[in-house]
Amino acid sequence: MKEKSIGFYKRLILSVTAALILVPTTFSLFLFHQNQKLKEKPDNTVLADDVVTVGATQLEPAAISKAQPMLGYQLLYPDFKADFHGFSDMMTASKQVFLTFDDGPSMGTASLLDLLKSKDVKATFFVTGKSNRWLCDQLKRAVSEGHEVGMHSYSHRYKAIYASMYMLLDDFYHDFLYIKNETGQAPAILRFPGGSINIFNAASYQTMISEMLRRGFVYYDWNVSAGDTVAKAAAQDISANVINGVRLCWGPAVVLLHDNGSPALEAALTVVIDTLSKEGYVFRKLDSSIKPPAFVYPD
Ligand SMILES: [Zn+2]
Repeated sequence: MKEKSIGFYKRLILSVTAALILVPTTFSLFLFHQNQKLKEKPDNTVLADDVVTVGATQLEPAAISKAQPMLGYQLLYPDFKADFHGFSDMMTASKQVFLTFDDGPSMGTASLLDLLKSKDVKATFFVTGKSNRWLCDQLKRAVSEGHEVGMHSYSHRYKAIYASMYMLLDDFYHDFLYIKNETGQAPAILRFPGGSINIFNAASYQTMISEMLRRGFVYYDWNVSAGDTVAKAAAQDISANVINGVRLCWGPAVVLLHDNGSPALEAALTVVIDTLSKEGYVFRKLDSSIKPPAFVYPD
């Protein structure tokens, strides 16, 4: 009986020892095998037999080209795009002025819209995100009165927006949805905060521009600056900057102004519109068929 129980315990100890050796060894071999399999996949390439999850967006494998793997950010927000139908010949006509107002809507938007209405002038608003209901309603009014509303980023925080392609797209997509929800029209044009090249995107502006173009958007810099954000800018300085700048333009003038509720702005605009209209200039709004003036880029 005693010998029997010694034999039983011997077998038990042997079995437990064998299990303690075999189980971790098998598990280690399994992990090693899995690791080898993962290493065989190129890590920067999207494989067509995978469902890819990027951020909150999940794409079906069919959307991914095996021959030309897309970069991660290109897969983001597949509905963030516009239909581009080419540029019109209208831009060859001179004596055209495109007034553009950045950074709105503001507390001054309503009276700015009143002024434009009284002068029968259509303009373009490059807007940023606002949560105030009254401000948001101004976007709807601008569109209903025939003006164009384009994107200017949601946050207008240069450092964050230009930190990466992911940050840029996330911010602009937010602005895109905001405009679409408030006005019922998806924007097709944009202005980069600080212009298409600035000190925050000097190393990446080409990628940022080409990605927006790939998605069908047209971006607008400017060839006339009103200087209306200069501290204590007087109405007569603003109007002189615009009028002289427009007269110097070879082709159509795209004028940078700001929708910031400045009282000097409206006084200046009245002079600008009256003076240039008398000289035969026509005021128009931008749309993606208007070929934009190009900034001078470093060589
Ligand atoms: Zn701005």
